[in-house]
Amino acid sequence: MVGGRLRKTFAIAPGDPLLGGYPVEVREPIRLDVELTNPTHGTYVLTGAIEGSGIEPCRRCLTPVEVEVEDRFRVVYQYPGRDQDEETGDEDLVLIDPGADRIEIDEAVRDRLFVETELYALCSDECRGICPSCGANLNETTCDCEVAVGDARWHALESLRRRTGE
Ligand SMILES: [Zn+2]
Ligand SMILES: [Zn+2]
Repeated sequence: MVGGRLRKTFAIAPGDPLLGGYPVEVREPIRLDVELTNPTHGTYVLTGAIEGSGIEPCRRCLTPVEVEVEDRFRVVYQYPGRDQDEETGDEDLVLIDPGADRIEIDEAVRDRLFVETELYALCSDECRGICPSCGANLNETTCDCEVAVGDARWHALESLRRRTGE
């Protein structure tokens, strides 16, 4: 099949094993378009596009945030021992067993999903986060404990006050 070209679209549904351990909560299927070509004997080139969205907690305040899941990637599968300089560029190179009758793309897709995902989602750049002391969402409310956190002078004052019984 040298010179061949294969195109396929997949839908990665929520709960698909491929998404196991994925930190983004997927509610709608993620679309995956792949194209596999076989430019020369023993070399297969996979071009893929991932497109979808999911829900992730804001890194600071934990409010659910919708995030884009989007990536384009290229993976070269090659029989071992081939001249690997043939394919230049920074795409991933995966060696395959010449006896294999199929190309496993799951791992490549999983890698891309995990690597390319924004794992530090923020509900907004100005998000104030959660008060580490009382747990109040500081975007919605204010609290009085901010000063106490990590300020040694304040702690000294507190113990002084306790001692004098005020
Ligand atoms: Zn936030
Ligand atoms: Zn607080």
